[in-house]
Amino acid sequence: MNSASRPSHHTENGFENRYPLPESKKSFFTFLRLRLLGRESWPKAKKQIGKTPVVAPNLDAIHTPDPNVAQVTWIGHSTVLLQYQGINILTDPVFSDRASPFAHIGPKRYSPPGLAINQLPKINIILLSHNHYDHCDIESLRQIGKEPTYIVPLKNASLLKEAGIDSCIEMDWDQFAEVNGVKIVHTPSYHWSSRKISDRKEMLWGGYALTFPNGFKFYFVGDSGWNEQLFAEMGEKYGPFDLGLIPIGAYDPRDFMKAAHVNPEEAVLIKQTMGIKQAIAIHWGTFVLTAEPVDEPPKRLRIALEQAGLNPDHFLALPVGGMHHHMPTPSQD
Ligand code: ZN
Ligand code: ZN
Repeated sequence: MNSASRPSHHTENGFENRYPLPESKKSFFTFLRLRLLGRESWPKAKKQIGKTPVVAPNLDAIHTPDPNVAQVTWIGHSTVLLQYQGINILTDPVFSDRASPFAHIGPKRYSPPGLAINQLPKINIILLSHNHYDHCDIESLRQIGKEPTYIVPLKNASLLKEAGIDSCIEMDWDQFAEVNGVKIVHTPSYHWSSRKISDRKEMLWGGYALTFPNGFKFYFVGDSGWNEQLFAEMGEKYGPFDLGLIPIGAYDPRDFMKAAHVNPEEAVLIKQTMGIKQAIAIHWGTFVLTAEPVDEPPKRLRIALEQAGLNPDHFLALPVGGMHHHMPTPSQD
């Protein structure tokens, strides 16, 4: 495809963010490279205190869900089980001990998965947001196997092949697909991708907006930094949503992280901008990727919600294994 005919976020070898912000001098990539070369230790590692709350999963509810209630179980990090209208959807399945290409090095789980793979109900749809190791774990995908329909961003199909899964739906931003009667749009996020040293932004990244047959709308942000123009445009185009999964962690040090991950205050902006009635916090308490204390994101989230004048019950940080029932109503926030 020549550059005149390709979409603006497509590059020669991969993809670029929509509405790029001025690049920080200290990128997340530089930070990771320095870490991998051993020149940068985890900043303020001693600050990584605090516990992630963990509860036993409600297996009865998971295996006999009420189809009229949207039931969300936080398995940890960005791994969430959404059950609604007889359809079971799993986001970014990671059940392994480390978010890393290696068995013995790389970020180790800080809290156990809230549900084991063999406790999962039959999964209809898997939504994969991007190829980072804390979201795309080949071993977990291999164990889950071929049965679900896999939805992945462009160029990510090769990762599924590594896991022995040869069919999937690869999507570009703003593209539609329909699975089990659910309309799925792949939404852009402000992020990047990489599995190796030299494959930065070669595979696409993003989130998903789903519309169920009865009109119920669900949004999974994926990983994203804050980009006002991007979210405003998406909110206009795809919002509002009944339910949404919004990342709140991995934000410090801010210089490195702001182009990759929102902080809790920006997570609240996503909720407001996208018109998400009920939000569930993800991307915290599971893998220690960054410098903030493990239990800081939900505390800051609560303060940010109060400062924005929002009901804290409308943006919940569940314990690992925790469940939320959302009964869609026509009323406003
Ligand atoms: Zn990521
Ligand atoms: Zn991540």
